[in-house]
Amino acid sequence: MKIAVVGGGTAGWSAAALLSANAAHDITVLDPSSIAPIGVGESTLPYLQVSHRAMGFSALLGSQWLKDLDATVKLTISFEHFHRIGSTWIHPFTDPYHIDRGLIVAAVNGYGHPMPGASAQMGFIQAHTYFGKLQSKGFITPEDWVAQNRYAKLAAGGAFHLDALRYAALLKRLCLSRTNVTSMDASVGAVRQKPSGAIDHLSLLGGGRLEADLYIDCTGFSAVLSEAVGAVWESVSDQLLVDHAWVVQLPYRDVDVQRFNRTQCTALTHGWVFHIPLASRIGTGYIYASRYIDHDDACEELRTYLAQRWGYVPERIEPRRIAFKTGYRPKLWHHNVVAIGLSGFFCEPIESTAIALGQMAALELSRLLALSGPIPDGVAERFNALMLDQHLSVLTFVQWHYGLSERRDSAFWRAYGDMPMSSAQQALMTCFKQAPLTHGFDGKRVLQALGLQHSMFHEASWAMLMMGYGVRQAQSLTLERAV
Ligand SMILES: Cc1cc2nc3c(=O)[nH]c(=O)nc-3n(C[C@H](O)[C@H](O)[C@H](O)COP(=O)(O)OP(=O)(O)OC[C@H]3O[C@@H](n4cnc5c(N)ncnc54)[C@H](O)[C@@H]3O)c2cc1C
Repeated sequence: MKIAVVGGGTAGWSAAALLSANAAHDITVLDPSSIAPIGVGESTLPYLQVSHRAMGFSALLGSQWLKDLDATVKLTISFEHFHRIGSTWIHPFTDPYHIDRGLIVAAVNGYGHPMPGASAQMGFIQAHTYFGKLQSKGFITPEDWVAQNRYAKLAAGGAFHLDALRYAALLKRLCLSRTNVTSMDASVGAVRQKPSGAIDHLSLLGGGRLEADLYIDCTGFSAVLSEAVGAVWESVSDQLLVDHAWVVQLPYRDVDVQRFNRTQCTALTHGWVFHIPLASRIGTGYIYASRYIDHDDACEELRTYLAQRWGYVPERIEPRRIAFKTGYRPKLWHHNVVAIGLSGFFCEPIESTAIALGQMAALELSRLLALSGPIPDGVAERFNALMLDQHLSVLTFVQWHYGLSERRDSAFWRAYGDMPMSSAQQALMTCFKQAPLTHGFDGKRVLQALGLQHSMFHEASWAMLMMGYGVRQAQSLTLERAV
């Protein structure tokens, strides 16, 4: 099949890498040097390793590629001041159900801990999970990670922080080593459509045309192809209030203190700051809601935070501003266009879901296109249904990072406080409170409560999230087992 991948950011080259693993596809990537990719997206999820296995490049095994990308190992995400000011909760990347669920029940209910809720959850994870213990041993380098193969074998639980631009460049280099991938330094001038609405061909700026059986729209927020064919975009800005970021890369001031194996998220007055520790520098930024704070004040708040937290000189911090929109396309695949990456879904950077969902979409697409010949009927519908579930479940998960907060100290946090819980959230919370973790709060029940067939976050992540915000199980279920 002849496939045009339009866009050379992380999503474009990930899609090309996954689709080109099938030698039957002939892939052309439009990667215009005149339009820069967004250049953020440095914190990944364990799904990265699923994608890499499917890409089939031996260069993505071992630790050299991690060194080349200035990468560090990421084991968890921490959330400071989200539940309440002063509290921290953790989302670990292992399945905590590998350890005794009785312990989890004890932690959920604050057993043995003076402060139930976020502190209990954090203490529990540090004391009892594999990665909590691993982290307490100190910083783990990618070389340690790969060399001590037992960690890498548990890689279902591990992810990485990496340099976004170098990652896309590495995938590009690897893709172009395949005979079925070519790249063009050209951008789309016009989308020429058939009477049906499907794309007939793309006219390229400066001349030339590109014709394909299927067009993958990886043009980021501009979504040049999806918009042209009328694929609907559902905004979720009423559920997720942030819409801008001030981002900056900083050198380490004290590497022993600032570099760790987790993405650190710190809630401020109108959003939150991310801290992504790479091997030689930090990626940081303030994700904020411009309807509650103006851009200059947000920039000032970031500078003040970085000065107070880490000792940077505020005047020397020069962030760049990025506008983003949150939402999804219910039909990622519309006519002969499939939106992958920011063109199809973005629900803000918290929990680092965007790269994972873009790669998941590309991987699912590559599976559905595994057979040669024309695309069978119903394939687009199956793909759309699967990805819609993934997007809706992630949206529910992400919204709860604010929706469960007890903070009311600014208009931003009060607006979240005023938002009603969705029916899926209500059902899930009821399920969590009433189904014993030891025999009940499982993947099947989570999906039932969500009313979906798929959820990228498994039941343990949902349990960790609720524990992090102090949701307790029903009294009758406390201490199913004495610990
Ligand atoms: C502040 C912020 C922080 C983020 N942090 C994370 C994170 O930690 N983890 C995570 O997983 N995700 C994160 N994301 C999302 C992540 O950045 C993206 O998912 C990822 O970079 C993929 O982007 P993309 O390739 O879809 O789009 P882009 O990087 O914008 O690439 C678009 C491509 O399309 C091309 N293009 C545009 N117009 C045309 C045209 N007319 N013709 C041809 N080509 C065109 C451009 O040249 C470019 O190559 C973050 C996003 C934001 C805004």
